[in-house]
Amino acid sequence: MTRPVVGRLAPSPTGALHLGNARTFLLAWLSVRSRGGRLILRMEDLDHPKVKPGASAGVLEDLRWLGLDWDEGPDIGGPSAPYTQSERRPIYRAALDRLRAAGLVYPCTCSRHDVEEAQSAPHGRNRHSLAYSGHCRNRYDSWDAARQTLPDGRLPCWRFRTPPGQSTFHDAFLGDCSLNVAEELGDFAFARDPDGAGYQLACTVDDAAMGITEVVRGDDLVDATHCQLALCRALNLTPPVYCHVPLVIGPDGRRLAKRHGDTRIAAFRENGISARRLIALLGAWSGLCSEDENLSPAELLPRFSWDRIPGTPVVYRPGYAGI
Ligand code: GLU
Ligand code: ZN
Repeated sequence: MTRPVVGRLAPSPTGALHLGNARTFLLAWLSVRSRGGRLILRMEDLDHPKVKPGASAGVLEDLRWLGLDWDEGPDIGGPSAPYTQSERRPIYRAALDRLRAAGLVYPCTCSRHDVEEAQSAPHGRNRHSLAYSGHCRNRYDSWDAARQTLPDGRLPCWRFRTPPGQSTFHDAFLGDCSLNVAEELGDFAFARDPDGAGYQLACTVDDAAMGITEVVRGDDLVDATHCQLALCRALNLTPPVYCHVPLVIGPDGRRLAKRHGDTRIAAFRENGISARRLIALLGAWSGLCSEDENLSPAELLPRFSWDRIPGTPVVYRPGYAGI
């Protein structure tokens, strides 16, 4: 029996929605809605201090303005509430306790950079960075013991004892993906938080708890997927199907960001560009329509097919299609 499709939109309120993340959300929405599935909106607000006050409301407003919708979320509730990660700490704590009881995790106080990054979704990876050495594997008896060695205000991170060998999964867009997590990343960090409330663990646990069957996200998170699959196995959770899509990049080949100009959805709206023009642009980038059309997401549904989505990154140039 095939499971009914349940997808999710999982924004981080670390800034405004821009063309790059809007395009990924549009594809996630089209994939689920084209098969009559349900969508959950989950606010991933654990990434302090990058989380910006007011950004959650802005992201929801921008998504709705674009014409995307969801069946459960922080603004409408639902059976898996709460939908804001900072309100789900006891759920992460319970998962962490299970990992601790199984001896699979430990606190680490090593590199300040690694430890600080542990709270964020690891978009991409510096291919030259070394795998974590395992220095703290048997170093501390507890989180508190680790924390006491650090100056006030600094926290350790939690690391997962990565089993040796190759991790492989079949990506619905990319095909087979493999990574030797133990060799390439080592014991990866999954949270900088005493309760385990950080990106990798929270995302893994929530996707399972919310019954997500399909995750569509940027292909800079493929490595993160290998980590989340390791956590799924350790916690005996059923993983979703993953579908990693190419990113929108700037002319310099880097992930779309402020340096490429103001690509915030709100900025286009304030300049009088309609949602239907923006959807046509995002749809054209996805091989679904031509960029001079005017369309709502719902009008793109009959044209949606994964076969039409280009496998290469989309290059954004300011002024493209008059937008
Ligand atoms: N909230 C994460 C981010 O926006 C993405 C998480 C995901 O799709 O797994 O960076
Ligand atoms: Zn360490």
